[in-house]
Amino acid sequence: MERHWDAICVGAGITSLAFGAQLVHRYPNVRLLVIDKHTVPGGYATMFRRPKADAIFDCSLHKLSGMGERGNLFRILSDLGLTKELDLHRSEEYFEANFHDRVFKLSNSIEQFQVDLLREFPAQSQALKEFFEELAVHGRNGYYQFQMMQGNYEVDFAELRFAHRHLKNLTVEDALRQRFNDPDLRRIIAATGIYVGGFSSDLGYLYFLHVLYATLTQGNAYVKGSSQRLSDLLAQRIENAGGKVLLGTNVHRVISDNQDSVNGVVTSKGNFYANRVYINASPHYAMSQLFDEHPGLTLVRMKLAKLQPSRSTTTLYLTTDLPPEQLGVESAESMIFSENLDWEPPSQSDDSCEMLAEQAFWNESTMELTNYHLLDPSGGSILCANVLDDIGHWPHRKSELYKEKKHRAQLALLERLYQAKPQLCGHVKYVELSSPRTYERFTNNTDGAGYGAMVGTDLSGHIFHHGFPISGVHFLSAWVAGPSYEAAFGYAEMKVNQWAA
Ligand SMILES: Cc1cc2nc3c(=O)[nH]c(=O)nc-3n(C[C@H](O)[C@H](O)[C@H](O)COP(=O)(O)OP(=O)(O)OC[C@H]3O[C@@H](n4cnc5c(N)ncnc54)[C@H](O)[C@@H]3O)c2cc1C
Repeated sequence: MERHWDAICVGAGITSLAFGAQLVHRYPNVRLLVIDKHTVPGGYATMFRRPKADAIFDCSLHKLSGMGERGNLFRILSDLGLTKELDLHRSEEYFEANFHDRVFKLSNSIEQFQVDLLREFPAQSQALKEFFEELAVHGRNGYYQFQMMQGNYEVDFAELRFAHRHLKNLTVEDALRQRFNDPDLRRIIAATGIYVGGFSSDLGYLYFLHVLYATLTQGNAYVKGSSQRLSDLLAQRIENAGGKVLLGTNVHRVISDNQDSVNGVVTSKGNFYANRVYINASPHYAMSQLFDEHPGLTLVRMKLAKLQPSRSTTTLYLTTDLPPEQLGVESAESMIFSENLDWEPPSQSDDSCEMLAEQAFWNESTMELTNYHLLDPSGGSILCANVLDDIGHWPHRKSELYKEKKHRAQLALLERLYQAKPQLCGHVKYVELSSPRTYERFTNNTDGAGYGAMVGTDLSGHIFHHGFPISGVHFLSAWVAGPSYEAAFGYAEMKVNQWAA
């Protein structure tokens, strides 16, 4: 195989594939090599099969935000000519809210969503009005951040100043407590944080407004045939333009000849050379494993220490013997809220009380349930339940302790599911659980986060790569972009725009 390329990507996650497909679309002569240790492209935007259970499970949820006419992601996919090839499912509901004493549906259209919330929480009408005004202005400005940085979106600087002075340093929890006095309403609004791996005490409010704006006002859609379909199409684009997606190949090290500029990579299949290398792996892993010592890297590592990972996820995959809609799971997505109003997520550094952490993560935090059968009936009767978790509470894989913990997690999540959806009892045919250790194993995200970086109130860690001391090295992943596919595509587009500079 050819050893010399114009650019090499370490990792074939969605950010890398989005970058590669846009790069070869814009510059058809660029020869790009994308290398991944997996045997399938996509990183976490992928699926896995269980032939005995006749099941294909999606790893990440594959909900695409920004898929309306004015959405960032729809524009990029349209430019690539992919919107027709992607078979999309558009849901009428945002999610179904499940409390122990009431269940109601919330619409996917922002106007109807407000009406739905007003119906359920009439005493909060003034606060809701003000909240949605705030969302329309500051959520919108955050949403178009990449466009603004490239001069394609004109922002009102007075609004921007106001947001940075008054909203940027608030957590979602602080902000929602100031705005609403109904705890159930606060939990419903904060639930959207699960899409980016954060509890309301973790996430920065300004960033959160942008996420809510993206998912609620810019149109969202699911890809039929799983996110693997999107990853495969992007990989195909790279190969059709003369590039290569080399799978089943581990990158061991980045080569920099005189230490100051990049030269290529050392892999399990030999060396490959290029003077631009894009790192798609988690930056914490990359900085500890992929580079030789270099005096300038100390500063980079110090800046990186401030980049906090998102919460990780514990996920229950299951199949049922009847379509889930017939078993009480009527919506594509349901949020299941616990009875305990006072629960607190353990801080990410606190590993002092494992049992309490288990209780908080599995039994008391919001559980998100996806009905894959509704999104794509040809995929079978598949459900998937997610709760946020933390790798700090999980022992190493293959140990007895790990197996026992997995067993406890499975029982706890199943019990919660049966309580919320009792008709599922006796109809679950196959169950399997993935833990934060699973993410570590499949992505090299040493912090176990499947989402990337946490966007809190302090953004300083996100620019750890600025002024990187080895020229030609770029970082390219949800860790620098902020989580989610839409952000990954937006960041990748920005990197393509810098190619010729
Ligand atoms: C449960 C869950 C649900 C989610 N749902 C959604 C959703 O509905 N919508 C949404 O927009 N986002 C969702 N996300 C987030 C989204 O999946 C991630 O943000 C995104 O997939 C991250 O992509 P990435 O390219 O940055 O990284 P990754 O997917 O981690 O890709 C990194 C790649 O690099 C490879 N790699 C690492 N080290 C090496 C090496 N040394 N050699 C070779 N290859 C290497 C890995 O194998 C991997 O393929 C979800 C995440 C989770 C965990």
